[in-house]
Amino acid sequence: MKIQAINGFKDILPETAIRWRYIEECARNTFERFGMREIRLPILEKTELFVRSIGEATDVVEKEMYTFVDKGLTMRPEATASIMRAFIEHGLHVQRPVQRLFTIGPMFRHERPQKGRLRQFHQLDAEIIGAVEPQIDAELIAMGQMLLDTLGIQTSLEINSLGCPVCRPPFKEQLVNYLEKVSDSLCDDCRRRTHTNPLRVLDCKQKGCKAVVADAPSLLDCLCPDCEQHFLDVRQALDGLEISYSINRFMVRGLDYYTRTTFEFLTTDLGAQAAVGAGGRYDGLIEQLGGPKLPGIGFAMGLERIALLMEQLQEKELPVEQMDIFIAALGQEPLTTCAKLTHALRLQGIKAAIDYSGRSLKAQLKQASRVNARYTLIVGDDELAKQQAILRNMASQEQNPFDLSGSSAQQSERLRSLLKETTDPA
Ligand code: ATP
Ligand code: MG
Repeated sequence: MKIQAINGFKDILPETAIRWRYIEECARNTFERFGMREIRLPILEKTELFVRSIGEATDVVEKEMYTFVDKGLTMRPEATASIMRAFIEHGLHVQRPVQRLFTIGPMFRHERPQKGRLRQFHQLDAEIIGAVEPQIDAELIAMGQMLLDTLGIQTSLEINSLGCPVCRPPFKEQLVNYLEKVSDSLCDDCRRRTHTNPLRVLDCKQKGCKAVVADAPSLLDCLCPDCEQHFLDVRQALDGLEISYSINRFMVRGLDYYTRTTFEFLTTDLGAQAAVGAGGRYDGLIEQLGGPKLPGIGFAMGLERIALLMEQLQEKELPVEQMDIFIAALGQEPLTTCAKLTHALRLQGIKAAIDYSGRSLKAQLKQASRVNARYTLIVGDDELAKQQAILRNMASQEQNPFDLSGSSAQQSERLRSLLKETTDPA
């Protein structure tokens, strides 16, 4: 019996991996422009960390976590909690009062696998800890927008405010009152959520619930003066940065730790409307996890969803794997010379491929095309005797002599400058 990967867990084959790397490089490059620094974290954490931060009555904690029950450990379903754990554990606020951190890596949720939804998926996660100003919210959102723009991905931005421990509890009460009155029209999940996590009802995708929710009281009408001012300032700051958005008063997000600003970058190009990225403010989280009383805001983007959207972009040149040169050695003696030359090229930073099987020129040229080599250097016994190889441009099929005299380092240096000339026409 063949062993296959488990459902919802996917191999990223080289043709896809190169695109992922491109996305990751764009992310690193964009994030670093905003002063973000990379942090790398363990995959496994104490279950308690996620229960206390994400919240007991959330889908993630109730249904989606991969937990080793006997060991009390969980495969991380998201990155924010782990970043906060590390932040507190290492007292990072002492080092810098405002920490800007990002991480890229796999997350695990036991969900129903479908397009853009996996059980092991990957997030680009960015957090700014220690700053409460609304301009920070706008800056972080602008950073996410900048990354998506750089990648050529079209999304719409929705924002909302979830208030704070002052204004949310009275709103919740009001909401529960309303939901109890209309409970007959709610789905089973939402009838239960009315008492465990009423805000989640606002986010239910069931038709009946959606209709009921349309008339539900809105948190935006109940914000305390501070939260209202913050939301207003965030909107003004976004306007100032010319970031367009719309307000979605039903957006609640699936994690309990959010306060005030929440946002989602949405697309309709993945089937049903889906979030490519989402985030929000979590001003009480760090203290709740036993750390200092510090605010924070962050977002996470799904790498798989970004990659899917990029595949749909026709006009965008997707990065492909390429070799600078393929060395075709024909015969025993040429092979000895070519092996040394190949090594010298690699030492000089050139992507070089060689075939040791002694196959025909035709077969080797075919292989050169398969590995997407820009050039092939052909060296047979005659070429070796004359110290003159043939350099073939694989795209134009043009062939020119190449001087093979000197040591392999000298040959390599000549070849390198030749290749460089053809890449930088300046
Ligand atoms: P969704 O509503 O699609 O389940 P979510 O609100 O659970 O998303 P977050 O926890 O906010 O998602 O995670 C941020 C981003 O991570 C999402 O916008 C999405 O791009 C990505 N993501 C979340 N869950 C998955 C998954 N199971 N597979 C692939 N990507 C995911
Ligand atoms: Mg989810």
